[in-house]
Amino acid sequence: MPPPPAFRFEALLVGDRWEPDVRMEVDAAGRIASLSPGSPDAACEQVCGWTVPGVPNLHSHAFQRALAGLAEADGPDSFWSWREVMYRLAALPGPDEVEAIALQLYVELLKAGFTCVGEFHYLHHPPGGGRYADPAEMSRRIVRAAEKAGIGLVHMPVVYENAGLGGEPLTGSQRRFRLDLDEALRIRADLADVCGGAGCGLGLALHSVRAVRPATFRRIFENPCAAGSPMHIHVAEQEREVRECLAQRGARPVQWLLDHAPVDQGWCLVHATHMTGAEAAAVAARGAVVGLCPTTEANLGDGLFPLGALVRAGGRFGIGTDSHVSRSPVEELRLLDYGQRLAARARSVPRTGPDRTRNGALAGAGGALLAHAWENGCRALAWDGGTVAVGRRADLAVLDAGHPALAGRRGHAVLDSWVFSGTESPVRDVMVAGDWVVRDRRHMCEEGAARGYAAAVDGLIQPGGR
Ligand SMILES: [Zn+2]
Repeated sequence: MPPPPAFRFEALLVGDRWEPDVRMEVDAAGRIASLSPGSPDAACEQVCGWTVPGVPNLHSHAFQRALAGLAEADGPDSFWSWREVMYRLAALPGPDEVEAIALQLYVELLKAGFTCVGEFHYLHHPPGGGRYADPAEMSRRIVRAAEKAGIGLVHMPVVYENAGLGGEPLTGSQRRFRLDLDEALRIRADLADVCGGAGCGLGLALHSVRAVRPATFRRIFENPCAAGSPMHIHVAEQEREVRECLAQRGARPVQWLLDHAPVDQGWCLVHATHMTGAEAAAVAARGAVVGLCPTTEANLGDGLFPLGALVRAGGRFGIGTDSHVSRSPVEELRLLDYGQRLAARARSVPRTGPDRTRNGALAGAGGALLAHAWENGCRALAWDGGTVAVGRRADLAVLDAGHPALAGRRGHAVLDSWVFSGTESPVRDVMVAGDWVVRDRRHMCEEGAARGYAAAVDGLIQPGGR
């Protein structure tokens, strides 16, 4: 048998320390088998630069990658008019197009330093309605795109039942989204042959309080079907949703959810933009992760997330790229922090809970933000990465120490400069489960992915469309 792959990292982030000259062995499952700081071994593969855990992206709708930049009216516009443009696009792609769009997206995410993605998947059925012969067809295409790209995937079929809180039926392209709990569980079970291994996990999602019937929440409350696997839901993204929920259910969406679902540490509440301080404290007490998608939330004019209320209560947050107007982890974290600074008119804003102090490489603002993204993104996806330790996945991103953004940086300034210095990414190499998928800024199949994506998008965008 050949010896396990071994690497020697010039500087590797282990816990909150930059460890020099770390020899790492990776086992056949892509996990870290051994770590030896200060190793003199010059015979194994040498990796220069600052190496960090790959970042988990906890919230993605892959098909929306094709929409980025297409819904920017200079006139009357809102989340709801954006949603109409999104619905028009969502009516079009078939399995081949969705696979091509997802492949391009996943290549881009990897090149930016993401190493796994949580796919909140609701494009289930054929354009125009009906069912594919295999109801899991679209899900399988997402899985295939992730395999081709080499990114870790946690696939979450989405339950989507209503058009609104009053139980209004789905119309138009929303009919492609329709899935009840039993169908979602069946798709999840059907995918066990391709997921559930080292590179692909499975979860479940509820689209939102407004799109899932109260009876379904009752079933989950009485018989939690997602025990041990992630459960994600959009909640309180828009003020209109809060007003409607108050009017029809007598409670704000986050409070209603906490009262009617077994929200615990296996849950991820996506956006939760319009949360009161009491709701933030209650979410923190349940141990759930809040999934923030700052560039999408800014693009859609959702509002500013009350980060201080959550972190002061010891709450957890991770990041996702949602509609993919950005595909960069550091752009998400930077915008999150700048929003808080602008609102507070201060540079000192809460990032870390009262019982936590961050030291060493994580002592600055960039490190504090990345620490949340690593730890809580993995928690939200039940993904065994986000930190360098024996037994964890060898999912890593290498920052080029020779990049101007990192010139002369040491200690916590490395991560602070990755997050806060410009848009040219210093990510040079990316490893997923012990395999290099990005080398010298090139993904192994980026040219083919870009050609397939361009052909798919050309076919979808109508002449004269927005
Ligand atoms: Zn979303």
